[in-house]
Amino acid sequence: MRHAETVTFGGGGLDRAEDLRRHPDRLAALPARTLPLWRGKPLMDAARTGLALVDDAVVAHAGQPILLGRIDGAAVFARDVSALTVDGETEGLGAFLDPTEQTLPGMPDGSAFAELRAVMTRLSPLDAELAATARGAVEWHRTHGFCANCGHRTEVEKAGWARACPACGRHHFPRTDPVVIMLVTRGDRALLGRSPHWPEGFFSCLAGFMEPGETMEAAVRREVWEETGVKVGAVRYLASQPWPFPASLMLGAHGEAVSDEIAIDPEEIAEAIWIDRTEMMDVFAGTHPRLGPPRDGAIAHFLLREWLADRLD
Ligand SMILES: [Zn+2]
Repeated sequence: MRHAETVTFGGGGLDRAEDLRRHPDRLAALPARTLPLWRGKPLMDAARTGLALVDDAVVAHAGQPILLGRIDGAAVFARDVSALTVDGETEGLGAFLDPTEQTLPGMPDGSAFAELRAVMTRLSPLDAELAATARGAVEWHRTHGFCANCGHRTEVEKAGWARACPACGRHHFPRTDPVVIMLVTRGDRALLGRSPHWPEGFFSCLAGFMEPGETMEAAVRREVWEETGVKVGAVRYLASQPWPFPASLMLGAHGEAVSDEIAIDPEEIAEAIWIDRTEMMDVFAGTHPRLGPPRDGAIAHFLLREWLADRLD
């Protein structure tokens, strides 16, 4: 798919500076800028259109530095500053779309911590990649402090890109969990589903975690069959999207259905429907009587929009 990397969180082109992870002396010699994150929320600039990076010395007392990459000759880190006391509203904190913002004394004027899902479509591709990388890496460290092999406390190494176990010698690396998300079509229609937890009127592409031993194609066929009873034939990869909520990699695929009849699994989804292009145009225009458009920034929105524009090639 030619436009694959125009998806949100794609095409950032970040220099991840793997060489610096292995050479702490070279890393220490560079000027250091840092993206602070508070409870997974990146620090945004006053306009809320870009990240607010600060001199690393300002937040060096909080959190472990994780090297995100090299930008204009500077090393750029992420630090989890969740232990610091912030100002601001906390009601709604942790909600699916947390609307609250928090500020921290000593940070740039007007800056605030904001939920990444709320600001992701306003960021440049590079800032979006930095934020996704930072959020995923910080969360991995937060939840992987102990060795999965022997249970001993692990230690950070490789500038934040591994944890080593001093007891058994195992090395652990930040993980990414692949999820298939599929645009399933039959002729002029696409198959959408609604999760039981979603608001009424919100439909999206079907999706599900891949399992050990599965190809992406097999996972697409299995998930669609399990959730809707629709059989899928040919499957092809379209585009991928890092989705650090908390650690997914969305693998966008096109599946060609070979059957029509829907028989949902009510434990997995509340409803599934076939929708044709004309109706989908109404959905995107916001004029459909029942369905709202998928959320901008998510790969489902991207896949459906590209399908409508006939740009899947
Ligand atoms: Zn161990």
